[in-house]
Amino acid sequence: MTDFLQFGLGERIEKALTEANYTVPTPIQRQAIPILKQGHDLLGIAQTGTGKTAAFALPSLDYLSQTYKPLNARTSRMLVLAPTRELASQIAESFRTYGKFLRLTITTAFGGVPIGRQIRALQRGVDILVATPGRLIDLVDQNALDLSQVEVFVLDEADQMLDLGFIHALRRIVRILPKKRQSLFFSATMPPAIADLAAQFLTNPQKVEVKPQATTAERVAQHVIHVNAAEKQALLTIMLQDLGADMDRGLIFMRTKHGADRVVRHLKGGGIAAEAIHGNKSQPQRERALGMFRTGEIKILVATDIAARGIDVPGVSHVFNFELPNVPEQYVHRIGRTARAGREGIAIALVSDNDERGYLRDIERLIRQKLEPMPLPENFLTRAAALAKPIARTDGNSGDQRGFGGERRDGRRDGGHRGAPGHRDTGHRGERSGGERREGADGQRRHFGAAKPKYSAKPAHGGAGNGSSRAPGGGQRRQGR
Ligand code: AMP
Repeated sequence: MTDFLQFGLGERIEKALTEANYTVPTPIQRQAIPILKQGHDLLGIAQTGTGKTAAFALPSLDYLSQTYKPLNARTSRMLVLAPTRELASQIAESFRTYGKFLRLTITTAFGGVPIGRQIRALQRGVDILVATPGRLIDLVDQNALDLSQVEVFVLDEADQMLDLGFIHALRRIVRILPKKRQSLFFSATMPPAIADLAAQFLTNPQKVEVKPQATTAERVAQHVIHVNAAEKQALLTIMLQDLGADMDRGLIFMRTKHGADRVVRHLKGGGIAAEAIHGNKSQPQRERALGMFRTGEIKILVATDIAARGIDVPGVSHVFNFELPNVPEQYVHRIGRTARAGREGIAIALVSDNDERGYLRDIERLIRQKLEPMPLPENFLTRAAALAKPIARTDGNSGDQRGFGGERRDGRRDGGHRGAPGHRDTGHRGERSGGERREGADGQRRHFGAAKPKYSAKPAHGGAGNGSSRAPGGGQRRQGR
């Protein structure tokens, strides 16, 4: 059962959506799909990352399959224009995913690759053509494509099109498209030049607008902790231990499914209940995990970006970016999972300087602010080393909190302490602290609140601060914004 049923997209599309793990429509999908199903033109103000591709692809696929007809040579029933070949490929891929159980043909045409194959692909006509404007004009000029049969036309990322100098190509294309068609126009921004262009393409459009991504999360306190990749797992566990009851619900984001499973394993090994939700999980498994998260049975959910799309759980107080997303918009999506419904929230990014600095820079550029650096927890390395003990142990809870040589505040240790290449998990480093038994897996020593929690959105309650750590969520710090 998915919330997409409300749109009446037909069983085959619904089946594809279930397979792709889409359960909850995004705001633009919710708004745009009914309008498009009624055949209206649409002016959409939305950025990449909002789910706009499915917003236009789903009703179009439904329409094309409902009105299935043989194709004339070199024609296309639907034309999608995108500014770059990457976007064109991505859009075509989305059409293939959602149209997996339909008998519709999809092809792409963009520059930078030989035109011959594209000409051949168009010879018998296609249902859906996704193209960049320059190559599209070339194909028309070579009589390889006839636009007279286009019934649905989409212009995606119009503002980028103008930036890239496609205005003349677009004006020409609009002249050769048939007058009777459904037109969809998407842009992240709507300055006068774009509005003018939209007016040329659209007839009595309905307008939908989703809030610009970069401003959705103003109420989220955003932090970064710089940490070696190999120590991320320990850092996460320690932060969660320290937070204890000060965290209502925490979402942990990973780039890969495999990574999500690994983190869950480690957390469970450390006595912290967590579940993973990602594309390899079956629908019942996903629903079960979400249900447990919703009811508070588990306080931690580890998710990949795609899987997290459907998560709309109120009361997520913390978002941990265990790995930064490589698409900066995704970061905004992730942190938008907290601070819902007027609440405040905390987002903490665990950033490895080796390979994630560039991602951090891109994110800070997009959100037009710097994430606030947060120090590592007190005695981090000592505690991390304790965690690195084989987690199946049940003996030896010495409580020893001795540090070992070379500990630095920035989380780097002197000397070649890392495990063998590829051993990214702290779990592999048990050998290093030879002989010291610090903590077992029984959770006995999970002293929530033993140290003052440093990652809480709630005002710090009593007690002295500990040295250089600032309480990130405190009212004080916010004033600086
Ligand atoms: P877009 O803004 O169209 O580029 O979509 C961004 C990402 O969100 C893509 O990876 C889509 O596969 C994914 N996505 C779009 N809609 C949904 C949904 N309703 N549920 C889950 N994932 C989605």
